[in-house]
Amino acid sequence: MKKSLIASAVLFSSTAIANVEAPKNIIYMIGDGMGPAYTAGYRYYMDDPSTKVVEKTIFDELFVGMARTSPDDDTVVTDSAAGATALSTATKSYNGAIAVDTDKKPLTTMLQIAKSKGLTTALVATSQINHATPASFAAHNEYRRNYNEIADDYIDVKINGKLAVDLLLGGGYKYFIREDRDLVSEFKQAGYHYESDFDKLNTINSLPAIGLFKETAFAYAIDQYPTRLSDMAEQTFSLLDKNKENGFFVMLEGSQIDWCGHANDVACAMAEMDDFANAIKKAKHYVDSNPDTLLVVTADHSTGGLTLGANGDYSWHTNVIKGVKASGSKIAKALMKSDNLLSTWQDKTAITLDKDQAELLANKVITAKNEKSDETSAKKQLVEHVKMLISKASNTGWTTSGHTAIDVPILAYGKGADEFRGHLDNTEIASKLINFIKQ
Ligand SMILES: [Zn+2]
Repeated sequence: MKKSLIASAVLFSSTAIANVEAPKNIIYMIGDGMGPAYTAGYRYYMDDPSTKVVEKTIFDELFVGMARTSPDDDTVVTDSAAGATALSTATKSYNGAIAVDTDKKPLTTMLQIAKSKGLTTALVATSQINHATPASFAAHNEYRRNYNEIADDYIDVKINGKLAVDLLLGGGYKYFIREDRDLVSEFKQAGYHYESDFDKLNTINSLPAIGLFKETAFAYAIDQYPTRLSDMAEQTFSLLDKNKENGFFVMLEGSQIDWCGHANDVACAMAEMDDFANAIKKAKHYVDSNPDTLLVVTADHSTGGLTLGANGDYSWHTNVIKGVKASGSKIAKALMKSDNLLSTWQDKTAITLDKDQAELLANKVITAKNEKSDETSAKKQLVEHVKMLISKASNTGWTTSGHTAIDVPILAYGKGADEFRGHLDNTEIASKLINFIKQ
């Protein structure tokens, strides 16, 4: 009885969408860890202080709804693997699962369906390209940290005898060029152009291609390459545009919004949001000139329990965040190298410390400097202390170093965008996209 009810529910939803003509191309963007506090925070962060209103951002302009994120696990809090599996296969699984179900059986992903339908396919991320989110579109593994096996799948899991992903851009060459296997030379044998120098991103001008620009992940946007995702997005859209005869499917991930959230580093998070926002603007621009394209943006979960205002104080100081020029860990490193602590602090954060704060910071730096090279606890404490000073000065709150279960925004634009309006489950976003791809 229960089964037939589910079957008719599925039938009903696919009939409902059958009236909507499918877009030819799909641009799917996932802001890892991008809960609503991040999109709202970015709005205040970007506000023009010379006007009375708080200007809308691209996230506000394209907003259509919210998504539920809970996994098929003994918790309501998802990780990125279960989150991405739901967003790529329309099936909920356990935390750690890479496109496998609760019984660890492989689930077909929307990218694989797209490839089988003859679409050009692409994956772009600022993490290693075999990290949980991109992995869940083209690999199957019972555990997200089996990075070598996941990288192997990009070659080994073939669709109609062909490699599944026509364009891969991100980090992670250490997982592809290994002692036991050289996947890069296997990609080359399969006709792929390979590039490892990010300055040569623009020289990738035909498909198939693979760009692995870092040993693992890119550095944080705030520390290096503030536009790495938007640069890769631009190159990706230009490449896909030349290969869109049968349409294309691309997933681009703002991977490190989540990492800054785990680190409770608000300036780091806003810089990642800025790179992601600029990549979305490029996607929107592509849709404007190619109206047969659909853009859907969402997140897998929120991270850090970020709050804009904290401790009973009705304020959130974006001017403080804008003055911070590096991640907490980079600032701590600079302080340890500096012979003029306060001037380095000013230079990196523009935050004024009172006498007690300055003394405490100086003590933490000395303890970290004196720590033996094989120990890290005082260095870690210094990094935490730096981030605490930034959170305190900006009145930013954090409740966890992990994820939270709150709903996440859905943005949609272009052909078929109305289908994503309202309050959806993360699996419904995927099933709607899969229905479009199958049409
Ligand atoms: Zn995370």
